[in-house]
Amino acid sequence: MYTSKELMEMEHKYGAHNYHPLEVVISKAEGIWVEDPEGRRYMDMLSAYSAVNQGHRHPKIIQALKDQADLVTLTSRAFYNDRWPLFAKKLAEFVGKDMVLPMNTGAEAVETAIKTMRKWGYLVKGVEQDKAEIIVFEENFHGRTTTIISFSVDPDARDHYGPYTPGFVIVPYDDLEAVKRAVNKNTVGILVEPIQGEAGIRVPSDGFLKGLERICRENNVLLAVDEVQTGFCRTGKTFAFQHEGVDPDIIIMGKALGGGVFPVSAVAANENVLGVFKPGTHGSTFGGNPLACAVAMAAIDVLVEEKLADRAAELGKYFMDGLKAIQAKTDKIKEVRGKGLLIGLVLNESAGKARIYTTALKDKGLLCKETHSWIIRFAPPLVITKEEIDRALKMIEEVFVG
Ligand code: PMP
Repeated sequence: MYTSKELMEMEHKYGAHNYHPLEVVISKAEGIWVEDPEGRRYMDMLSAYSAVNQGHRHPKIIQALKDQADLVTLTSRAFYNDRWPLFAKKLAEFVGKDMVLPMNTGAEAVETAIKTMRKWGYLVKGVEQDKAEIIVFEENFHGRTTTIISFSVDPDARDHYGPYTPGFVIVPYDDLEAVKRAVNKNTVGILVEPIQGEAGIRVPSDGFLKGLERICRENNVLLAVDEVQTGFCRTGKTFAFQHEGVDPDIIIMGKALGGGVFPVSAVAANENVLGVFKPGTHGSTFGGNPLACAVAMAAIDVLVEEKLADRAAELGKYFMDGLKAIQAKTDKIKEVRGKGLLIGLVLNESAGKARIYTTALKDKGLLCKETHSWIIRFAPPLVITKEEIDRALKMIEEVFVG
C-alpha cells in the first residue's frame, strides 16, 4: 500500500504532466464521499467535472457493469451486439430525437457534431466543402483534440499546437448581434455551451439560446448544443437547453451518460441530420460497446427513478441561497451564479487567489476547484442531501467568514 505522497511522486516521475488543482489522492468513493489512502474522507464537490451526477459507484450502475461483464464486454463495431440497439432506442427516446451515434469521450462527441454539421452543409445545404463555417464562442471549452483547440481562446489549450483547423468563426458569448453579423451563406452550424462550465459557470442572458435557435431557423443553419457538462440533470432540467424551450438540431452528450463509471458519449439528432453518415464514414472501435451501453442505460434509469433533475433544481436553489447568505457576511465574494447544482463563486480581487480557499476547504474535508484564479466551482453529485449541503455551507462559511 502506497501513501498519498508516494503515489503523487510516482505520478510526477512516470506520468506525463497533468493538471491537479489540489494535492489529494483518491482511492475509494461512495455517493458524494471520496477517501484517500490514509483514510481521510472528503465531500466531492467537483463530481469529476459533472461526470458523477448519479453519485460515486451507484449500486444500480455498478450492478449493470458487473452483470454485463459476465456476458460480453467488447465486440467492436464489426458485429452487431445485443446492447447497443436497446441503448440507442432508449437514448433516442429519452432525448426526443430520431437517432443517436455512440462515441466515448466528450471531445469525440463534439468532433462528431462538427463532422455532422460540415457533411450536412455539403450534402443538404450545398456549401462547398472547404468553405463551411461553424460559429463558436469566446471562452468556449469543448475538449482538447487538435480541431477543437483550433477554436479555443485559452492559450494553455491552444498555443504551439498549430497548424490549426480552419472553418471556425469565434464571436463573443451571449451576443446575438455578433452571431447575426457572423452568419453567411457558408455557415453550416452554431456550436454552443448552454452554460460555459470551464469558463467559470458563465450563464448567458435569458433568451440567448432561443435567439440562437431563431437565427439558425432563419438562415438554414444547424444548432448544436454541447451538453457534455450541463446535461443529465446537472442544471435542474434533464438538459440545460430545456430552460428556454429550445429544440437543438444536435445534442452533444458525455460525462454523466456513463454514470461516473465508464466513458460514454453520444450525439443525437434527427434522421435528416445524423443520416448524413453512411456505413464506414465515421465511428469508433469502442463506441456502443456492450459494457458502455449497459452502464449508460442504468445511468439514465437512475436519473429518472431518483428524479435527479428536480432534486438539482431544489437543492441547487437551497445551496445558492446559503452561499448568498455567506456572501452577505464577507466582502470576499463578488457573485454567486449558476443553475441547479452547477454553481460558481466569483471572488473579489481583494480576496486573493481562489486556490487559497479551495486548499483551505480541502483541509476541512471538501473538494472543489478553482477556475481562472478568481472563481470557485461547486458541482456535487446530484444525490447530495440537504443535510450534506448544510455541512458544506458550514465549511465554506468557516473559510470565508471565520
Ligand atoms: N464539452 C464540454 C462542455 C466540457 O465541459 C468538456 C469537458 N470538461 C468536454 C466537452 C470534453 O469532454 P472530455 O473531457 O470527455 O473529452
